[in-house]
Amino acid sequence: MFALENYIRNIPDFPKKGIGFKDITTLIKNGPVFQQAINQLAEKFNRLGIDRVVGIESRGFIFAAALAFKWGAGVVPVRKPGKLPAKCIREEYALEYGTDAIEIHEDAIEKGQKVLIIDDLLATGGTVAATIKLLNRLGAEIVGIGFLIELDFLNGRKQLAPYPVHSLIHYQCE
Ligand code: AMP
Repeated sequence: MFALENYIRNIPDFPKKGIGFKDITTLIKNGPVFQQAINQLAEKFNRLGIDRVVGIESRGFIFAAALAFKWGAGVVPVRKPGKLPAKCIREEYALEYGTDAIEIHEDAIEKGQKVLIIDDLLATGGTVAATIKLLNRLGAEIVGIGFLIELDFLNGRKQLAPYPVHSLIHYQCE
């Protein structure tokens, strides 16, 4: 077994001062390590009968697609405004300064379908909280939320109740 945390590269002050950026490219470029990460995430959500795996732009797509392929499930992208070509619904969410928004195709999920939300990293939880709202508007049944990395000290998990959340790597501080 690889210690996954050893394959994450920390980049201080990127993209701005004070942020410790967790670079996952050093993990995903290593085939056996990437495979272990996907297998470990899959184990957390196996046997839930997941229909679609929702990946959040952009690093979430990498993990969502690999997981969905493993289960024979579909992949659904959640993207920044203006990127998806067909009719979308949108949710705005607060940032430290100002707001941002994300979109999903209105026909991406059918009512009652079981979905798993996947992103590379949980920070404040704002992006995933907005994704939950989008999926609830479409009538999805959210069966879980998975991350490669969770920044525990930002308490993002609090925003994601009552859904089951699993992360493979935890950071207690910057
Ligand atoms: P949040 O909405 O605050 O939970 O932010 C989550 C999104 O921002 C994820 O899609 C991450 O890829 C990205 N992100 C936030 N903080 C970091 C960080 N320290 N290192 C790498 N990515 C980050």
